[in-house]
Amino acid sequence: MLDTTANPLLEISQLCKWYGNFSALHDINLSVAPGEKVVICGPSGSGKSTVIRCINQLEAHQHGKIIVDGVEVTPGMKRIEQVRRDVGMVFQSFNLFPHMSILDNLTLGPVRNLGLSRKAAKERAMGYLERVHIAEQADKYPGQLSGGQQQRVAIARALCMKPKIMLFDEPTSALDPEMVAGVLDVMAELANEGMTMICVTHEMGFARKVADRVVFMDAGEIVEISEPEEFFNAPKTERAQKFLSQILGH
Ligand code: ADP
Repeated sequence: MLDTTANPLLEISQLCKWYGNFSALHDINLSVAPGEKVVICGPSGSGKSTVIRCINQLEAHQHGKIIVDGVEVTPGMKRIEQVRRDVGMVFQSFNLFPHMSILDNLTLGPVRNLGLSRKAAKERAMGYLERVHIAEQADKYPGQLSGGQQQRVAIARALCMKPKIMLFDEPTSALDPEMVAGVLDVMAELANEGMTMICVTHEMGFARKVADRVVFMDAGEIVEISEPEEFFNAPKTERAQKFLSQILGH
């Protein structure tokens, strides 16, 4: 069960971001408890990706606070590598090294950045490859795998760093339709195991099934935060109603 009385693992307050004169995020406030699963949805260009990219400073914010497990994340901070270790990220594109085997893709980070021995990193990598149901592909190269398999490898690679929180930025958007379910299943399993997760996704079935809360964004703002049941059955705002009718087709 979710312990909402525990200290939040992630706290975002009054976050603002501009690209030049363009206000991409305005006054974003979001607190995520350990073990909580949050789905962020909203129209294209509403700032979903920017929010999660600010969490590990792939984008710098200009105003507000982001605190990951008690550590404030600031642009140019010295300890950003520590934060990035704690925050696993899975992108739409898999970003695997094409010239390295699957196993080598997975052991690189733990050996280089966590100081694990090759043997320990390999054991850890095989464990996570089994968890994403793909251990038999360990010696292949990324180009020999389907998109869905590569995305599961990307998830395993992030897990090999033993993150405290996982961020997913539209992880199934670039996949052929028949590959989507396998990736969502792995994400749901991860959720069931208690991983703290923030997922930007258009997969509303996943949101319904897995999310503790759904965050709806529009035009750089959080418009609504609700439990899935409420969000899907009785959205509070007209903007959310419109979005849902477009995406769900009714
Ligand atoms: P979403 O993930 O909801 O589709 P994004 O977070 O990618 O939205 O983008 C939010 C807004 O910021 C969009 O209007 C987008 O065009 C703009 N934007 C994103 N990245 C940049 C950038 N590097 N430079 C300028 N504008 C950007």
